[in-house]
Amino acid sequence: MSAPPVHATVLSFEDARRAVEEHAAKLHPTGMEYVDLLAAAGRVLAEPVFADRDIPPFPRSTRDGYAVRSADLAQLPATFDVIGEIKAGEQLGRIPSAIGSGQVAAIMTGAPVPAGADAVVMVEYSTQHGERVEITKGVVPGENVVPRGAEARQGSSLLDRGLRLNDAAIALAASVGKSWLDVYKLPRVAVLTTGDEIVDVNATPGPTQIRNSNSYSLAVQIRRAGGEPVLLPIAPDEPQALRRLIEDGLKSDLLLMTGGVSMGRYDLVEQVLSEMGAEFFFTGAKIQPGRPVVFGQVMCGAGTCGAGTLARPGTLVPPPRKYFLGLPGNPVSTMVTFELFARPMLEALAGQSPCKLVFLHARLKSEIRIKPGLRRFLPAVLTGELENSEVELVAWQGSGDIAATARANCYIVIPPDRDRITAGEWVAVMPR
Ligand code: AMP
Ligand code: MG
Repeated sequence: MSAPPVHATVLSFEDARRAVEEHAAKLHPTGMEYVDLLAAAGRVLAEPVFADRDIPPFPRSTRDGYAVRSADLAQLPATFDVIGEIKAGEQLGRIPSAIGSGQVAAIMTGAPVPAGADAVVMVEYSTQHGERVEITKGVVPGENVVPRGAEARQGSSLLDRGLRLNDAAIALAASVGKSWLDVYKLPRVAVLTTGDEIVDVNATPGPTQIRNSNSYSLAVQIRRAGGEPVLLPIAPDEPQALRRLIEDGLKSDLLLMTGGVSMGRYDLVEQVLSEMGAEFFFTGAKIQPGRPVVFGQVMCGAGTCGAGTLARPGTLVPPPRKYFLGLPGNPVSTMVTFELFARPMLEALAGQSPCKLVFLHARLKSEIRIKPGLRRFLPAVLTGELENSEVELVAWQGSGDIAATARANCYIVIPPDRDRITAGEWVAVMPR
């Protein structure tokens, strides 16, 4: 069967990225699982987490010192009776029920400030002799005290669904007693690499063959973005076999292909997808590396789409449509286009709230001259910190050069209207 030729739609980087974000917004995670707190690190939260009590649960001293009535310190130095000592975790019965005029209580960081006291004077401003203490510095009301419930009220929401759980979020969940959490299932992302010249990592390549590296860089990127890679066999540049493997890939939640999307006679990915009735949202982006990147959606045939939707008897459920990205086969193009265009789709399937690309800024070490027209993401090395951050392109042989990219720790981003960037200019840098 021959399909109409694919209409070429080459978008600017911004428009291509927007298209991906708009489609990502329509995606949902495929389910939830209940995991223990440490297994939840890096996963996406599927339930809101609430404060089980006021935080802090009592007015908490933030210093070692003396709990005082701030008004008593109008005249300095001042001397007080020390009526008790309050350790962190002190039993309620051992905490003075009230601090009266002329009285203070010794108090430690993390201990509850007793009634009557409204501030804590740091121990550095005191001299204690037996049961008496002289204080040499005043405090304003509330100083060195976090009021009960100031960080969160009992029942208030602390963490929202869609948050990727980092160290602080895990700590917060621990602080409210959540030792298990509902997280979203990892989306399954199929990786289909194409090309007659590509052989498995364990095979001995013939003189004109190369080993498959893209499936591995993609698997790493998929894991890092919160997905589970499903590596398919290498597809030859032959339509029937390619189609069968694409159909296999469509059983996963997202299909990523590498290679076969350029203008070559044996670049068959778009043709085969077009024969399968695919809709293409773009067939190129004005970027380098990665210009031939393809994004679209295709209907899956019966039995090829994994779990699918359960239909009530008598209801017609249209076959599900799955998203695919055809990433250019050059290894650096594959890595860059994953970060720019595949990641938002994967994150949405993982249940994560949309997030923007993160760029750093650094001073360019050596001048760059370049042909304008494309937004470039060129492998580079970032050194130094803060105001002294510097960045320099790695010497490379183009977007097939994995060795150069392995030496890089970032990409310099060059806007499409620039033909020259002078040494010392601040440039945007995408970490890798
Ligand atoms: P293509 O996009 O199919 O024209 O491939 C572009 C270049 O990337 C060619 O030099 C391919 O040999 C190379 N390439 C394609 N797929 C892979 C892969 N899986 N691993 C490493 N290199 C690849
Ligand atoms: Mg190829």
